[in-house]
Amino acid sequence: MIEGLSRQALAADAVVFQAGDPGDCAYVIEDGCIEILAGTGEARRRVAILSRGAMFGEVALLDGLPRTATARAVVATTLVRIEREQVEGLIKRADPVIRYLLKLLLSRFRSVQDQAAGDLLARDHLAREKALSESTLNLQEAATRTLTLVRDLGHAIDAGQMELFYQPLVAYGDGGTIGYEALIRWRHPILGLVSPMEFISLAEKTDLIHRIGRWVMERATADWKDLKPHCRPGPGVTPFMSINLSAPELADAGIVAALGDCVARHGVPAPEIRIELTETIIVENLDAVSANLRTLAAMGFGIALDDFGTGYAGLDYLRALPFSCLKIDKVFVQQMANGGPSLEIVRAAIDLGRALGLKILTEGVEDADTARRLAEMGCDYAQGYLYGKPMPRDAVAAWAAGRD
Ligand code: C2E
Ligand code: CA
Ligand code: CA
Repeated sequence: MIEGLSRQALAADAVVFQAGDPGDCAYVIEDGCIEILAGTGEARRRVAILSRGAMFGEVALLDGLPRTATARAVVATTLVRIEREQVEGLIKRADPVIRYLLKLLLSRFRSVQDQAAGDLLARDHLAREKALSESTLNLQEAATRTLTLVRDLGHAIDAGQMELFYQPLVAYGDGGTIGYEALIRWRHPILGLVSPMEFISLAEKTDLIHRIGRWVMERATADWKDLKPHCRPGPGVTPFMSINLSAPELADAGIVAALGDCVARHGVPAPEIRIELTETIIVENLDAVSANLRTLAAMGFGIALDDFGTGYAGLDYLRALPFSCLKIDKVFVQQMANGGPSLEIVRAAIDLGRALGLKILTEGVEDADTARRLAEMGCDYAQGYLYGKPMPRDAVAAWAAGRD
């Protein structure tokens, strides 16, 4: 849906746009009648007459080129305007496949139109074709990659291509390792290591996210017996394994039984597993998610609010849901060094978390100076390249020995 559309009222004979005008919006006729005129001066002729419900001006809006025709109101007319930024926003958020197809259709349409008009300078035409084909190629690559990932994702688990990497979580106070976050990786046979940022969102659009989620849960819980000995929590702190769950998983009624069954089979106490979820998940699926979260918290699982500060969760959610930890997003931590407003955001988040009795973890800590400042500000835990990058399970022992 396009939001925030505006209207434009025209008297009879008013010109909406003419050849050479910038093509910065498209129009839908709400009421009245519009004629489209091609050519100039003597050669000008009417090529279309459009009435209520018709759209016009959309091609220039999509390819960003100046208008090649004139649009004029035949009678008093009301138009709905669709601005370039509104359309660009929609296209940016669209799937690469859709974006690529759109571009392809557009360039085909353009060349047919150019031939018909026959009034383009050959030089301009070539320059435009070149620019179009370069950006079309980039989009084509992105679209092909997305299609390959979608096609192969279904077999990736059975083919043993998924792996979990583990990133240490450490206490600012004594520097001890309190746990590990499980981060999924896909070792694609042709494309190499694929980031979860790329394939989790694709999996979320299909039922595959549930299979992936169950696999992560199972693998991480099974690996915990090997990782737990490499934790050095302070007195009274329970070491834990963090697992990321996405919206469809947390909204699914089966998640409670699946997690309960998984820890029981592996003999892992629930407090040694922490679930991480993002703010957007809560806001968009409040009812289903909050019921499941309450049950999981009552069973003893830890619950962390991930990427804090990037979503829209208000204070109400923080109060009402059973979180034990706030993870402040790495964008704020990484901007702290530049002295921007992020420092204040981090400070406010720490104060808020403390007031609610939550532990505070800061992500993306890459340098010792930032770590020192975060510790002074009252953060409890850290995660970041300064301490350790995500690594395969078998690399954890050597990492932990290095720290000891
Ligand atoms: P996240 O949960 O916020 O995970 C932290 C991300 O920050 C990881 O990216 C980690 O590699 C990265 N990171 C950690 N420390 C630093 C640092 O010091 N500097 C920088 N620049 N980055 C750091 P990764 O592994 O690529 O994961 C990306 C996201 O994919 C995760 O963000 C999480 O939202 C999602 N994800 C990963 N594994 C799973 C999974 O098993 N299930 C689901 N549903 N989502 C997952
Ligand atoms: Ca996480
Ligand atoms: Ca995060």
